Amino acid sequence: MSFSLDPEAAEWAAKARAFADNELMPYELEAEMNHGQLPPGVSERHERIAVEIGLASQDAPRAHGGLELPVLTQVAMAEQLGRVTNGLSWCYPEAQSWMFEAFSPEQIERHAKAMMRGERHVCYAITEEFAGSDPGEIRTTARREGDHYVVTGEKWHVTSYNVADTVIVQAVLAGGEHDGAHALFFCPADAEGLSVVRTPVYTHNYQHHHAILKFDGVRIPAADRIGAEGDGMGVTHSWFRRERLMIAARCCGAAERLIEEALAFAKTRIVSGEAIMSYQLIQAMLADSAVEMHAARLMTREAAVAHDRGADLKTLHARCSLAKLYASEMAFRVADRAVQIFGGRGYMRENVAERFLREVRVDRIWEGTSEIQRLIIARALDKRGLAATIGS
Ligand SMILES: Cc1cc2nc3c(=O)[nH]c(=O)nc-3n(C[C@H](O)[C@H](O)[C@H](O)COP(=O)(O)OP(=O)(O)OC[C@H]3O[C@@H](n4cnc5c(N)ncnc54)[C@H](O)[C@@H]3O)c2cc1C
Repeated sequence: MSFSLDPEAAEWAAKARAFADNELMPYELEAEMNHGQLPPGVSERHERIAVEIGLASQDAPRAHGGLELPVLTQVAMAEQLGRVTNGLSWCYPEAQSWMFEAFSPEQIERHAKAMMRGERHVCYAITEEFAGSDPGEIRTTARREGDHYVVTGEKWHVTSYNVADTVIVQAVLAGGEHDGAHALFFCPADAEGLSVVRTPVYTHNYQHHHAILKFDGVRIPAADRIGAEGDGMGVTHSWFRRERLMIAARCCGAAERLIEEALAFAKTRIVSGEAIMSYQLIQAMLADSAVEMHAARLMTREAAVAHDRGADLKTLHARCSLAKLYASEMAFRVADRAVQIFGGRGYMRENVAERFLREVRVDRIWEGTSEIQRLIIARALDKRGLAATIGS
């Protein structure tokens, strides 16, 4: 089995790298110093280029005008975008393949295809104050009234609400045949009854904020339900699989950049008359980082190849958890070592290692914490055994 990229995949990765290096990285410091804000017009330009390159339609089926790139190719592109700090690569909507299975034909036209054109910006509201690791515990309700649902509850950490026009909200059905089951709904970001409780400040400086939202009897047409009543958790799991794999890929990219930057610094920084690269304690930090980054990338690409092979969904679910768990923990260790190699400079916000140390921390939390990934892996081991879990 090969995880190296064929010429076509390498070409896509090169496009993503050029976009990251030439268009996004030049704005890292400006974003960092201005709470994520970019000069007027820059985000629009980034989005336009991303859509032109094909990033917004990379995972969409060809039958719907998408590129339907192999998952390995998409992972290779995500690695490149992960090399950028300050969330600058979050500049385009992504029409993901699961959407074309879960959405109705009308929803595909109105939402998924508009995302491919960069004309629809969606955020996801699942987590609540008392339901994070276990989405089964959410309390937001959707009560059917004629041809509408009435949604009531509060959602936390809703990433990108400030730049979104649509919220995908998960709620528990109250009453009716599927009472207690979950469903997902499209809700306009400016719907009557939907308001921002507050926008907390987080560790990173991103243009995309993480609002706490209140749904106060928001009326959502039944036609805006995603899938059938009770499909909520299944659809959310499809989204989690995709996001976990891509988080793993971005963490590999972050680690790659950190190692390259720390290596370049170590070769030129002279202490006691010697480049610090000649000191074996520095060499060890770089060697350990390279080994772990390589292992994480192999694991992530292997999971991508398993997707491309059409492996069983349950196996893929555990594989994405393996990759996300290892890559996110690896990236934090690599960032910490990079800060150490940069010394005092590594503690300055203008330094890439300082920013990544703060930014990759959340990759051990969102889309399921490291503890939850371990539980998923352990459950897979228990049910299917080691060979099936790791795909050997
Ligand atoms: C910056 C950011 C952006 C986010 N964006 C979104 C978003 O766009 N949409 C959205 O819906 N959510 C979003 N989230 C929420 C995120 O997915 C949750 O924070 C995450 O799932 C953890 O839930 P929690 O914060 O409630 O922690 P909790 O579930 O309260 O967990 C607290 C601690 O307990 C541990 N724990 C929990 N259960 C177990 C167990 N069974 N065994 C062992 N340990 C356990 C956890 O691992 C963690 O260490 C975002 C979060 C952050 C920080």
